[in-house]
Amino acid sequence: MQRTVVVAGGGISGLAACYHLAQSSSAPRIILLEGSSRLGGWLQSTRTEDGAVFEHGPRGIRPVGSVGKNTLNMLSELGLESEILPVPGDHSASKNRYLYVNKALHKLPSGISGLLRTIHPFSKPLIWCGLRDFTAQRGTQPDETVHEFVARRLGKEVADIAIDSLCRGVFAGDCQRLSLRSCFPMLYEAERKRRSVILGMVLAGGEKSHFDSALIRRAKKERWSQWSLRSGMEILPEALEEFLRGQGVQIHRDTPLRQLERTADNRWKITLPGGSIVADHLISAVPAKVLSQLLPRSEEPLAKELCQIEAVSVGVVNLQYDGMVLPVKGFGHLVPSFEDSILLGIVYDSVAFPDQNHRGAPSTRLTVMMGGAWFEEGIGNPDKVSQDQLLRRASEAVMSHLGICGAPTRAIVKLHKACIPQYTLGHWKRTENIFKYLKEQMLPLSVVGASYEGVSVNDCIFSARNAVEKLFQWPQ
Ligand code: FAD
Repeated sequence: MQRTVVVAGGGISGLAACYHLAQSSSAPRIILLEGSSRLGGWLQSTRTEDGAVFEHGPRGIRPVGSVGKNTLNMLSELGLESEILPVPGDHSASKNRYLYVNKALHKLPSGISGLLRTIHPFSKPLIWCGLRDFTAQRGTQPDETVHEFVARRLGKEVADIAIDSLCRGVFAGDCQRLSLRSCFPMLYEAERKRRSVILGMVLAGGEKSHFDSALIRRAKKERWSQWSLRSGMEILPEALEEFLRGQGVQIHRDTPLRQLERTADNRWKITLPGGSIVADHLISAVPAKVLSQLLPRSEEPLAKELCQIEAVSVGVVNLQYDGMVLPVKGFGHLVPSFEDSILLGIVYDSVAFPDQNHRGAPSTRLTVMMGGAWFEEGIGNPDKVSQDQLLRRASEAVMSHLGICGAPTRAIVKLHKACIPQYTLGHWKRTENIFKYLKEQMLPLSVVGASYEGVSVNDCIFSARNAVEKLFQWPQ
């Protein structure tokens, strides 16, 4: 009899899991259950009548590494190549990234000459940090915070300014709490294998990957730093849905899983709002905390590990202004926590992706990101914060950081609750325990998504692919 695999959660991870399941030669019956009324999870775009696109979630996807190449292959297979908006290596959004420190914008150094000079806000040439890396001792702990690691290898100033900002930009998180081993596994491996992080990264960049296609070669040739999609990132879940429907996958929106029970023959009875279904295998693509609340009592050790994976909330404010009003050209700027803990950074969307500006007169599109690990202490309870409060804070930042004083011609405010999982110290052990438990107990359950092994869109898609590959290796 054909096996039934249920995928819980219709974000990019759940959709990617269905995609890989449907492509398998022994594809099971596939049912996707999404709790909300839309698919895509945090991939959310607004398309206006005059042709502008505003991203409320991810916008810039990196093409590098196996995970990046895997996503490019998926885009080709879905027929989305003509939608891609690449940011080539020589584009100002690839070359210019800024920090806002001491109430001023500072361009991050690039190229060798940038490393040899003292460039504010750093107090000495960054070449000294590189030399320090070559002499620093290998770490002895199984894990350390991102801040501790970078301070030890490259110096405290780089950790306080550059790495603090980077962690806020990527994880909306606090580098004094985030785990180096889980957030930046390449750096962890580089130190273990090569002793020098810089050397390790350079050598890792030359490692071969088995992914290849014309699109991958083009991305490499043009040195894309990242890419986005012309009609907005939400076109990706839309294309996936169309593909899955064509493959006979059953997709149910507004169908949140309420409870999981194990049956005597090692399957799942899944309770839904209007009844229940039975699955031979469940792929969970919902946040770890959500899964922990669905599991039966018998799986308490697993639930305990899952519920420790917290996520932070982010206020996302998209603003549009008439004219080209930015004082600098680049991808955007990040703000270290000592400068302003609430304001994580501002992305200059109209610089990186001008094709998403509205038709007609020139305009500037920005996205202001706020809160993250500092949301509660700096802004308040996410359940009580008003849209006006977030808009006011974003407009003030745009005025003081970029000198843009006029009123925006368009503003969209979103509050994403618990949207970015935080891989805090010891996360590697939690995930190891989770995967070990699933294997040892032979649970008919796989876990994928941003809660475990990478928060980027690429990581999520890759984790879904890996889980499906493993599923087909398991005893039937
Ligand atoms: P989710 O998107 O959270 O999907 C989970 C799904 O499960 C949701 O649809 C939810 O409704 C559903 N669900 C929840 N509970 C239930 C239930 N009980 N039953 C059924 N369904 C349920 N990454 C990048 O690579 N580049 C970027 O530029 C970037 N920028 C970002 C900006 C923001 C503001 C945010 C929030 C994230 C950003 N990310 C970026 C990260 C990336 O977008 C996310 O990590 C990724 O989209 C997470 O996908 P997911 O499918 O794992 O989870």
